[in-house]
Amino acid sequence: MPHIATTNPATGQVLKTYEAMSTEQLDDAIERTDLAFQQLRETTVNQRAQWMNAAADLLDAERDEIARIMTTEMGKTYVSAQAEVTKCATAARFYADQAPAFLADEPADAAAVKATRAFIRYQPIGVVLAVMPWNFPLWQVMRFAAPALMAGNTGLLKHASNVPQTALLLEDVFRRAGFPEGAFTTVLVDSAAVDRILSDPRVRAATLTGSEPAGRSIAQIAGRELKKTVLELGGSDPFVVMPSANVDRAAEVATTARCQNNGQSCIAAKRFIVHTDVFDAFAEKFAANMAALRVGDPMDPNTDVGPLASERGRDEVHAQVRDAVDNGATVLCGGEPPSGDGWFYPPTVVTDLTPQMRMWSEEVFGPVAGLFRVSSYEEAIEVANGTSFGLGSNAWTRDQAEQERFATDLDAGNVFINGMTTSYPELPFGGVKNSGYGRELSALGMREFCNTKTVWVGEGAASAGAGAHAE
Ligand code: NAP
Repeated sequence: MPHIATTNPATGQVLKTYEAMSTEQLDDAIERTDLAFQQLRETTVNQRAQWMNAAADLLDAERDEIARIMTTEMGKTYVSAQAEVTKCATAARFYADQAPAFLADEPADAAAVKATRAFIRYQPIGVVLAVMPWNFPLWQVMRFAAPALMAGNTGLLKHASNVPQTALLLEDVFRRAGFPEGAFTTVLVDSAAVDRILSDPRVRAATLTGSEPAGRSIAQIAGRELKKTVLELGGSDPFVVMPSANVDRAAEVATTARCQNNGQSCIAAKRFIVHTDVFDAFAEKFAANMAALRVGDPMDPNTDVGPLASERGRDEVHAQVRDAVDNGATVLCGGEPPSGDGWFYPPTVVTDLTPQMRMWSEEVFGPVAGLFRVSSYEEAIEVANGTSFGLGSNAWTRDQAEQERFATDLDAGNVFINGMTTSYPELPFGGVKNSGYGRELSALGMREFCNTKTVWVGEGAASAGAGAHAE
């Protein structure tokens, strides 16, 4: 069976298969994307903003059909897929609006550097390869594509092999929005082709959102080829609850934070680290909330949790839970996959974990929460930071001094206090440690794939200067 296929996770039925591109087709796609760069770099930022706004309009107009394809390909609830399409349109408009400011020349202190004029100019670098995961099949791509295209770069998308229809429709949206042919190109290839693509001199950089092993592999190739990478990898985010927290609210948000996207989010809270003073109250409410979630058909608007995206993913989650139980952990709810078609897994809470268990240190990519009891702030930080990951983090406390300490002490790319981690186009997004490096979103995300060029002028013409750049 071809590896690149749409298989409905709610039924296990293969709906559509695709042949991987031949070497010649891949070469043509790279050539097209490189030629498009030669065109796009000559356009003004205002022209690109018009096209990006048109892409946002298409996403809004076609939201329901796009959402249906996403749900069919990877099992997220239809309601959350609709919200994801809307979020992509919002991000596209954000970058259309903000790009002129993000790309404007930035004046420097000319006198300090013995110049008559000195400034920083942000310019596109060329074709950027985007290797993307299936879990937010539209959003992960859009948060790369919107800033990259607005900066004048072109994008080559190698999407996850189980979401080919979503991958192709994105290429189509950018084309219909008016971007030059090839400005955003989807290549249907296996991950083995990534080495060939990134080795191609026409490809200047790569961004990957995915697992740690995929990150290591791409970073090795990029290292060999001396190419810039941004890596958004896995996470095992802590969700700390301290005695001063609003425990009811924390238990409610914890349920969403763990089970959003059927539990398959890099920034899902995965380890719930609760102070002993409120542990029993939190555990009871959290387990009750988790058990009350409705698991079922992702197209049904009443469903909270749909199937996991693949049988392999579902089996892996269950193996992690079994490993914990076999080694003495306690299951407060869930823990057994239902029989029948589809790759469903029930919301599950596991406690009494020890460092010997897989769940202690591994990312669990499904609706399964690990619950940890701690007896002090220091112990909470030790457990929270005691992982190889550092993507998001959450802390619940109404003590302002403690809020400040968490903001500093949590070793992660973001800290959300009295809330759950989420992404906004306005805020930078990314991780530390094995969760990767570089940032997406905000001005920082756009500049990751820009040439930050220093311009120094000794004796200058009087008329031009910083800010005069038209791009
Ligand atoms: P994955 O297996 O790493 O796949 C992600 C992408 O990388 C797919 O396009 C995949 O292609 C490709 N890939 C896999 N192995 C590769 C290799 N050795 N060389 C080059 N490309 C390779 O990850 P996933 O299972 O789809 O996604 C789940 C993971 O992504 C989790 O760890 C999650 O935390 C992480 N994630 C991180 C973020 C973030 O922002 N930090 C966001 C979402 C997800 P194929 O499909 O063809 O194998």
